[in-house]
Amino acid sequence: MKNKLLSSLKILTACLLTAAILCSCSLEYILFGEEQEAPPEGKLSVHFLDVGQGDSIFAELPNGESMLVDAGDNYYGENIIKYIESEGFKKIDYLVATHPHADHIGSMPYIVRNFEIGSIYMPKVSANTSLYENLLKSLKSKGLTVKNGKAGVTIVSGDDFSADIIAPVKIDEKNLNNCSIVIKLSYGKRSFLLTGDAETGEMKTIKSDLSADVLKAGHHGSKTSTTDKILKSVNPDIAVISCGKNNDYGHPDEDVLKRLKAAGCSIYRTDKHKTVVIETDGESLTVETDHTSIKRAS
Ligand SMILES: [Zn+2]
Repeated sequence: MKNKLLSSLKILTACLLTAAILCSCSLEYILFGEEQEAPPEGKLSVHFLDVGQGDSIFAELPNGESMLVDAGDNYYGENIIKYIESEGFKKIDYLVATHPHADHIGSMPYIVRNFEIGSIYMPKVSANTSLYENLLKSLKSKGLTVKNGKAGVTIVSGDDFSADIIAPVKIDEKNLNNCSIVIKLSYGKRSFLLTGDAETGEMKTIKSDLSADVLKAGHHGSKTSTTDKILKSVNPDIAVISCGKNNDYGHPDEDVLKRLKAAGCSIYRTDKHKTVVIETDGESLTVETDHTSIKRAS
């Protein structure tokens, strides 16, 4: 009888222990789930960050991953990271340096050194600047190898979405702008054309379909890009111009603005609207302009 009681007690203890372990596991699972705060999937959000005279575009992809195309001039790195973190991301899955000019890669070495990066794409052209060298050093220190960003490369694709590189088709050593990586970001019925600083010369070489709902006007709205012919091929409803207030270059060009208006585009400018966020579920597009600028770190 005593033995029976003892073995019953043992079974009861074992059951209680198992229950306790199962309980703590599920509790851990719930806590883990809560801590993650993963961004909602199934939407494509493209954030045209106001980094003054320069480009930096952060995209939340429909599969929950993230992409950063360019990183503005120097000193924005810390606050670009803060912005990305505030959107619920702890990693940039795909980093793209459209071309090695300071207003596009300035803050990239800082971001590479201080944030988790999945992979990086750059055009196969080098620049003889300390900034470019610094970027390569930062990549080496993180064990990252550069992937060749050229026409025909798909950065990522998934359920009804893809990020495809459609240029450069060929490298123009004499003009780094015309080596810019051009990305077509598509989700469902909607698409974005991110053109870096590609000028007419490079845009003319593209063989892929240029049509897009949203066009990031090439080269900060300069007259060297966004010709009538290009506009006709892209046929966008929305144009975004990334440029600094009262910049020294006169960007955006008056003629480009006239052309965009004549084409019936809604125009958003980072010098006027600050950070512009355009989101789509694959069907409709929404534009938010209530965001602030990315501040330079002191
Ligand atoms: Zn530029």
